[in-house]
Amino acid sequence: MINVTKSYLPDIEKYKAYIDEIYSSSWLTNNGPMVQKLELRLKEYLGVKNIILVSNGTIALDVAYKVLELKGEIITTPFSFVATTSSAVLAGLKPIFADIDENSLNINPQNIEKMINQNTSAILPVHVFANACEVEEIEKIAKKYNLKVIYDAAHAFDVEYKSESILKYGDISTLSFHATKLFHTIEGGAIITNDDELAQKIRYFINFGIKSATEIPYIGTNAKMNEFEAAMGLCILDDIKEIKNKRKVIIELYKKELDGIVKFQEQNINATQNYSYMPVIFKSKEELLSVQKALNTQDIYPRRYFYPSLDTLEYLKSSQICEISQNISQKILCLPVFVGLKEEMVLKICRTIREFSR
Ligand SMILES: *Cc1c(COP(=O)(O)O)cnc(C)c1O
Repeated sequence: MINVTKSYLPDIEKYKAYIDEIYSSSWLTNNGPMVQKLELRLKEYLGVKNIILVSNGTIALDVAYKVLELKGEIITTPFSFVATTSSAVLAGLKPIFADIDENSLNINPQNIEKMINQNTSAILPVHVFANACEVEEIEKIAKKYNLKVIYDAAHAFDVEYKSESILKYGDISTLSFHATKLFHTIEGGAIITNDDELAQKIRYFINFGIKSATEIPYIGTNAKMNEFEAAMGLCILDDIKEIKNKRKVIIELYKKELDGIVKFQEQNINATQNYSYMPVIFKSKEELLSVQKALNTQDIYPRRYFYPSLDTLEYLKSSQICEISQNISQKILCLPVFVGLKEEMVLKICRTIREFSR
């Protein structure tokens, strides 16, 4: 069976050596040596000022909403993984959708400004499939209206915009290190901010608001990453260049084989790519469904990322309609990409797509 992705596993002996260290220290969680080491290495590798590791990418968003004290409405994209919207709703925020650009698949800054009113507290864009948003335009709008910006950068590990980390944009950027993501810690995530004071607040917040053994000056939650997860991250970080190179070869082969057959996401020309996803857009929903069926019969399971468009979520009882997002979400499929995916398999997938998309 070929799925849209297959979690990368590092050399087991290397992982075991870290596990041995954890066993000899008995330090399993609570900002242990593995977490500290991974934070330091990621900070350097990504070139960011503050990075705080947490237990997953969804709680990273939750923490961001809380420490920035958001309320009322937030303007976000209807074309994302459901966690972007559901986390905001659970935090008591009302998501207002600004439709996407049909080529970049990211929130269209021109649609953001129309949605701003006196209840708006923040903008929550997503670098969809690691394609950098129009960060400078979004920054301008946020400044003009005095709004906070949180980037759900779950996909955007190791992406640069104008030669600097994309994670430097916004008040906070969040990453997901879930097992299906490019870089993972089994479950995990991170919060990135340029603001040192905010970083300190986040560190207290993810550990129940505890400052010291006798001081609990803040309210907080439990969002800590554990040592076994951080050890996995340390192993995978050693291999990340190789992982990216192997995925690049696969993605370039798909693009060559499918050129003119399907539409690709248009990449931000000022940003680098991380080869985390291979989305393809078909001419119609019918074409997508026939390709999907033909692949499924060969035991190949691409995923309909992202479907449905989030403006159609029933529990929101939203009256908003985002036509572009709804249209794209009907026609987009993410093809299998993972280290170890064979060239013949990519060619077989492309042959099937060509056959069913005329
Ligand atoms: C994966 C993902 C999340 C959630 O991250 P978890 O680590 O799975 O909690 C949030 N937003 C987007 C866009 C994602 O792809």
